[in-house]
Amino acid sequence: MRISETDRVKSHLSAARRAGTLATLTLAEWEQTINDFNGICAYCKIRPFVLLEHFSPIYISGTHVNNCLPACDACNKRKGLYTGDDLFKAFDRALIEELRNYLDARIPIAMEVSEETKPRVCTPKAEKGKYEGKKFLDYEEAGDYLGIRHTALYHYVTDMEIETHKFKRNRKRYLAMDDVKRIERAMEEPWSEEVA
Ligand SMILES: [Zn+2]
Repeated sequence: MRISETDRVKSHLSAARRAGTLATLTLAEWEQTINDFNGICAYCKIRPFVLLEHFSPIYISGTHVNNCLPACDACNKRKGLYTGDDLFKAFDRALIEELRNYLDARIPIAMEVSEETKPRVCTPKAEKGKYEGKKFLDYEEAGDYLGIRHTALYHYVTDMEIETHKFKRNRKRYLAMDDVKRIERAMEEPWSEEVA
């Protein structure tokens, strides 16, 4: 029996939560992704898709609209544990770049409807005091400190190529306080066009 897309998304979301990574993919976003690839595998573009594939491993990036692709079994096996530029070993460079561009361009639906239209909620300075002296914050705490949502935070982390940290006590990923403060400064900067 075929798994429903609702259950598929749900099970990946719980796996991402267990891994302490971003878990925000919605059913609507996933259905849009499937449609964008006409229900076939994003890699070979021949066989029908049978699974949700994480472009960057779930334990690193999580289950969200900028990281999930429909794939067939063969391509999923072929991809194996390759990640980043190592993917060129398994697939054509042009294909990987096309998929990267596709994923980067996706805007989370929640963000389209609410985050973009709502004024940014700023955490009052007094609230921030509770994080004073901490060297590392998890995603939850960092989002609270900065007064932004998980998705927005994730984009800053990716765009600024911020390194995340793991500790033995749990499976969560942490951001160094210095990096959180870097994001805080970046948020205050006026928007400027990226120079290629
Ligand atoms: Zn395939």
